[in-house]
Order: sequence, then C-alpha cells, then structure tokens
Amino acid sequence: MATRVDLANLIFPDITETIDDLEKRYPKRNLPEGAMVTRFAPSPTGFLHTGSLFTSLVSSRFAKQSKGVFYIRLEDTDTKREIEGSGAELITQLINFGVEPDEGYLSDDKEVGSYGPYKQSDRASIYKTVIKHLIIEGRAYPCFLTQEELAELRHEQELNKEIPGVYGKYAKYRDYDIDKAIERIKNNDSYIIRFKSMGDHNNKIFFHDEVKGDLELTENDQDIVILKGDGLPTYHFAHLVDDHFMRTTHVTRGEEWLSSLPIHLELFDTLGFERPKYAHLPVIMKVENGNKRKLSKRKDEEAAVSFFLKEGYPKYGFIEYLLTIANSNYEAWRNENLDKDYFDFKLEFDKMSLDGALFDLEKVSSISKERMAYKKASVLESEVEAWAKTYNPEFYQKIVDNREFITEILNIEREKENPRKDYAKYSDIYPIVSFFYNDIYDSLDKNTFDFTVMKSKGEFKEVDRKVIKDLLTEYMATYNLDVTEEEWFDNLKALASKYKFTADRKEYKANPNDFNGQVGDAAGFIRIALSGRKNTPNIYYVQKILGKNEVERRINSTISNF
Ligand code: GLU
Repeated sequence: MATRVDLANLIFPDITETIDDLEKRYPKRNLPEGAMVTRFAPSPTGFLHTGSLFTSLVSSRFAKQSKGVFYIRLEDTDTKREIEGSGAELITQLINFGVEPDEGYLSDDKEVGSYGPYKQSDRASIYKTVIKHLIIEGRAYPCFLTQEELAELRHEQELNKEIPGVYGKYAKYRDYDIDKAIERIKNNDSYIIRFKSMGDHNNKIFFHDEVKGDLELTENDQDIVILKGDGLPTYHFAHLVDDHFMRTTHVTRGEEWLSSLPIHLELFDTLGFERPKYAHLPVIMKVENGNKRKLSKRKDEEAAVSFFLKEGYPKYGFIEYLLTIANSNYEAWRNENLDKDYFDFKLEFDKMSLDGALFDLEKVSSISKERMAYKKASVLESEVEAWAKTYNPEFYQKIVDNREFITEILNIEREKENPRKDYAKYSDIYPIVSFFYNDIYDSLDKNTFDFTVMKSKGEFKEVDRKVIKDLLTEYMATYNLDVTEEEWFDNLKALASKYKFTADRKEYKANPNDFNGQVGDAAGFIRIALSGRKNTPNIYYVQKILGKNEVERRINSTISNF
C-alpha cells in the first residue's frame, strides 16, 4: 500500500528541500523593535490603479516611519490576465509618485534584496516545497474533478441553495484512496492540488484587524485550489507563503480581501507559520447618483494614475490628497506644518476611514493649486518642462527654447505672502500663458477680440472704437513701466478719466450712460490687445515681460484692425 510520501514524491519528484531549509534560507529579519515589513504585491494586469497607489503609499509609509522595509512582489501567477510589460511599468509609475521600495521586484531583470526571487512565477519550487509538505501531512491532495463535474456541482448547490464551492461532501477526492490517485496520475489524468480544510462553516473565529478592529468571521471550510493545472499556485496560497518567507510583519491590502481572510488564517495555522498582522485598507469609492460605488477601471478615468500624470497634477498634490483620505487628521497637521515634508506626517491605522474613502477630484485640484502656488518659479519650470516633454510637445519646445522666459511668466505674483493660485495642474498653464509667445499671439484673429465693457450686472455695451484707439494710442505715447504697479495704475486712471472711464464705481452704477466705462475697463483694453483674453495674469507684469516694443507692436496690430 502506497503512502502519502509516495504520492508527494510522485507529484514533486524534483523537490528535495524542506520547509526547514526555506526557514533557514529566509531567516527572520534583523530589525529594530517595532519596525514593520510591508509590501505592495501588484498583479501585472494593466495600469497602476489609483486604489493601488493608495494602498502602496500607505504600506510604504508604515514601513518607512517605523524604520522597517517596504518591498515589492510581483504576483504574476494568473497568466491569462497578464499584460506583457505591465509589471515593470507599474513600478516605474509608483516610483514616479515617490513611493520607493527598499527591496523587491523592479523589472523583469532587476530585483534587489535577499528574500527573493520577488516574482511569483520564479518561486515555483518554493511553493511546491510547501505543498509537498502539506500532502505528506495529509492537508493537501490531488483533486481530479473535471470542469463538467464542477459545473454540475455548482448547479446542484444552486438548486439546494447551498454555499458554492468544494467542501465537505462535495470535496470528493479529499479522502481518495492513495493507490488510486497514484494510478490516475501515472495515467496522466489531469488534476489540481487542493488544501484540505478542517474548518467548520458553523464556527466563528475572532480576529483583530489593525484598521477594522475586532472582527467576528466565519471559519473556512473550503478545500481551495492551491496549485493549478499549469503548475502555478493560486493567490490565496502563494501570497501567504511569500508573506511568511519574506518576513512580512503587516499585510496592508485592500479590504476586498477581508472575506478571504479565514482561508488565509487556516493556512497559516496549518503550516505552523506565525500570522502576520493585517490591516485591511479602505477602498476608494465614488458617489454616483447619490450612491457610493467602487472607483471603476472601466467607468472612471481617474481610476488610473496615468490620468493624473497626463493631466499633469503635480505628484505632491496627488500624494497629499491620498494622505488626506488615509488619515482624517492629515489636513490639520498640514496646516500647522506648512514647511514640513508631507512624509514627516505619521500615519496611524486607527485614523483610517472604516467605510470606504470617497474620491474627490475637486479636492485633488484645490490641494495641488495650493501647493503649486508656493513652489519657486524655477522649480515649477522644471516640473512643467518634464511634464510637457511627454504630454505637450508644442509647449515643451517653447519652454526649452527659452527657459528664462517661461520662468519669468511663472513667477508673476508668485513670491509673495499670498501668491496667486492659477494652476491646479501643469496642463492648466499653457492655455493661460500661450499668448506670451509671439507666434501664438500673431495667429489670433484680432477681429474676435472682445472690447465690450460691463454696463450693469450681466449687461455689456460696445465702446466706440475710436475712443479705444485714441486711448490706447495715447497710452503708448506716454508708456512708462519704470514705476511701481500702483504708480502705473494711477497714471492709467488719469489717462482713462480723460476718455470718460470713471474711477468711481457708485457714480458709474448710477449713470452708466454718462461714461464709456470704468478705469478697470481701460486696463481691460490693454489686456485684450496684448492677449486677446479677458483674463490673464497681472497685466502690469505681462507688459514688463513682453517689453515696450512688443507691447507697442501688439497694440498697433490690434487697433490697426479697427
Ligand atoms: N495581487 C493582489 C492584487 O493585485 C495583491 C493583494 C495583496 O496585497 O495581498 O490585488
């Protein structure tokens, strides 16, 4: 009569190592008390999801702030869903956002650290070693159920309104005769390996999650698949073996995994591996028609971090936004510590939201706007340049042709206590500043320039073109920008009043027909002539940057059209 050892040797003839060997090869890490070892374990199935950036950010912060280790493991055992090259791409994007691993998978030919390999498809022999042990112990077995049999079983369970799956009496091969199993394997019958659960669905287990607190869960009784027909393990099994041998102290992952936790706990206990701590993190939600739902890869462009990169939200704005949804006290801390790095904030598990974090693009914008406003112009210039290189080649060319020019433009009303907050993302900049470039200005149709002024609330009126022409001509004749902004405006006021543009708001409101407009309208004409726009950055500085000759050229080219 054959034994389980015979069965295990038949299934894994090449596996000679034992769990003890693995324990020695991957010893406990020598880290200070309280140091956390966390990981980000993406599957290479496409782009970096906003939710994944969130969990990896949180995982990395907990490791860094406790002087531990944050590593990356590529979970590529689902070959059907794999997208070539997306593993390395995910990591590049992650690092781009400043979430830097200490160790792990970096690309298909680069990894660092001594707990590898960090790519699951390179770890087959490790999983097999553990499975071989489980078979010998009688806690794993080959299952010969065919797809048809499984479909039938599902059907029967549906009819009986039973929980689906392979468990109890449905686990037909859990006590199968070893000799018969050996014969079928020798016969090349197809099979997979299942874990033999000893749990009971009627039992409750109690568990403490770092985020969710004390939980009562239903014990696992499913004989889950641990090794698939293609020789690769399933997520449930592989991640657990890896978290153990990579000496993970805290499994920080999305709360969608909470429901499978009982399986993982049973596996840890069966293997005699010490359970890590778990922190199931909130999933990022969106409100749609008054209802909350998960941010969806298919429906929401903001579900992919590439959206934020393309739009040019500064990474510090986006990361800070994610920190505000990670810990409710982040914003208060930030307001008290404006000069600190955002990574100086200490995250805490018990300050995390328990019922999903709501995604709010407006807030990403307002945080980004705020942070961008306090950047030095030269710093912002290099950020915009790096962004434009990929996403706006026309702007990029203009930037690199004259970096000083764009830096001066970006510096308008910047270095003051309360700087202007015009830009929430890099893609906001070019539409606002493109008129500075002569070729762009020259391509504008001057006939479309809008010289109407406000008569009363919501009502606009045309101003006699001759008046505008005379005003702008005299403005140029007396042009003087070698004065302060205030003096310049006072001079403009004096000039404008000659042309019946009043500085007295009340007077204008009472009798709008007695005037051509208000002083601000005169400044508005200069603005429109120089840019074709009713809104621009501060027009005093715009003129300073353009220089007298260009101001004159633009004003002439506008009024020659009248
Ligand atoms: N590979 C899993 C995923 O991408 C990882 C889950 C985990 O962090 O354990 O969802």
